[in-house]
Amino acid sequence: MTKPTSGPKKINGWKVRVDRKLCIGAATCVALAAKAFALDTEAKAVILDTANEEAKEAILDAAKGCPVAAIIIEDENGKRIYPK
Ligand code: SF4
Repeated sequence: MTKPTSGPKKINGWKVRVDRKLCIGAATCVALAAKAFALDTEAKAVILDTANEEAKEAILDAAKGCPVAAIIIEDENGKRIYPK
């Protein structure tokens, strides 16, 4: 198992990363997509190896629910899905 990082990580055809400078550790993402996100010892969100088991809708909801829009989602061509 690899050490979790804040990405970018491929999740079901999306490229997802957490901007650690923006992340304030609010953990909304952990509540909405627990298989995809966790907080590390610095209270910054990391992307888990189990992220592929999380529904895409939950990942998108987590990104939308992040109070500082720190979760950035792109499709496989690099087109921004969220935030717009
Ligand atoms: S919801 Fe946003 S600010 Fe909160 S832990 Fe997740 S990425 Fe960080």
